[in-house]
Amino acid sequence: MVESRCGILCSKLGCDKLFNVNCKGCVNISKPFWGECPVKKCCEERHLEHCGLCFEFPCSLLKSFAYDKEQGDNGARICQCEKWASEKVLS
Ligand code: SF4
Ligand code: SF4
Repeated sequence: MVESRCGILCSKLGCDKLFNVNCKGCVNISKPFWGECPVKKCCEERHLEHCGLCFEFPCSLLKSFAYDKEQGDNGARICQCEKWASEKVLS
């Protein structure tokens, strides 16, 4: 299930918001309570379900998020986007 525009898997991340405020992931929230996200904004302006379906994937913005020293996940979200994109092709 696609939970985020950038490929983050909220359940894997162990985010407490999942349970505390019943967060359904940024795909299902028009205005996230954590503030505006440029990746989410860009993806939605292009009417894409997630970044893996973008012809610019993986763009420098997405990579800067994925490989950020503090908030990043060493590219795991990019791999997740690829996985979602290939699942879509196979379905
Ligand atoms: S970084 Fe942006 S696109 Fe990724 S989960 Fe958070 S709000 Fe969504
Ligand atoms: S891959 Fe980059 S350009 Fe494409 S939708 Fe995501 S953030 Fe926007």
